[in-house]
Amino acid sequence: DDWAERGAAVHVQREADANGNVQTKTIKKGVKDFTFGRILGEGSFSTVVAATDRQTLREYAIKILDKRHIIKEKKVKYVNIEKNTLNRLGDHPGIVRLYYTFQDERSLYFVLDLAPNGELFSVLKKLGTLNMECTQYYGAQLLDAVGYMHDHGVIHRDLKPENILLDENMRIKVTDFGTAKLLSMQKSVNGTTGASSDNISGIPIEDDRSNSFVGTAEYVPPELLTDKAAGRSSDIWAIGCILYQLLCGKPPFKASNEYQTFQKIIKLEYSFPALFSPVARDLVSHLLLTDPSKRLTIEQIKAHPFFADVEFGPALWSRKSPRL
Ligand code: ATP
Repeated sequence: DDWAERGAAVHVQREADANGNVQTKTIKKGVKDFTFGRILGEGSFSTVVAATDRQTLREYAIKILDKRHIIKEKKVKYVNIEKNTLNRLGDHPGIVRLYYTFQDERSLYFVLDLAPNGELFSVLKKLGTLNMECTQYYGAQLLDAVGYMHDHGVIHRDLKPENILLDENMRIKVTDFGTAKLLSMQKSVNGTTGASSDNISGIPIEDDRSNSFVGTAEYVPPELLTDKAAGRSSDIWAIGCILYQLLCGKPPFKASNEYQTFQKIIKLEYSFPALFSPVARDLVSHLLLTDPSKRLTIEQIKAHPFFADVEFGPALWSRKSPRL
């Protein structure tokens, strides 16, 4: 219903002018404003196509979703979650940005940042493993992006190398927010409430146990299997799995089927290969803990010796990517 009228999207841009006054510009875009190019990939309900804005010549990735298919398979909820989440996370270099949404008779369109270097998963598949320097580089960006999500009341719940895309400079863009959880935001302490429940100055409140199963078997945290509850620390567990996977080439909990994978997760049955460095081992073993409250926080991970050589903050997003 809040989808823009047929073929046109309303995108509100806020920019401060030279005097610091905030100007609001409304830009409408529709299918005919883009030239569609190569197919970037296909999902179960979508096709992602490279496209160029005819006016600005800027390139985007447009995710095209088939309305009939989505309604038939009861996925409307997830499409809306993805849209609302991306709208809330509009301004971080490590998160795919949603610029416009519009629709026509057949399809819904999401105009997104283009990530021309594909998935981190494909890089890992090609190389087998990443060295310490590359793992620190991609890991630090992932931490920064997830920290931003959590501060804005979003739990991703399906972090994995397939959902970490790479831009033209080999910097990460986290994607796939269809199974994210939006936390309600508390009114901020100083009494300003903001325009809506999306008030980003508030403190996100976690309300557990309202989840159904989401995620990918190998990255699911034990609390989701035992209590059906997932909070911020569930994303921390997934970060632990991803760091392990980048260094070893395979995720820590992997079996021939989902049931056996879940058994391993519940029993915390994983081991480090002999060559796994002690500092990485110390970090991962403090993330892969059964009790979610015992896992390190984002801030603690940033301060861990594994990331001692990394400068967090804006510098993280202008640093040259290390040779793979
Ligand atoms: P499913 O819906 O089945 O879980 P998915 O989440 O991968 O699959 P999409 O989000 O439609 O589905 O993505 C399809 C493919 O397109 C992905 O595998 C990804 O490699 C590619 N892709 C998605 N978004 C972008 C983007 N912004 N830039 C470049 N490629 C993208």
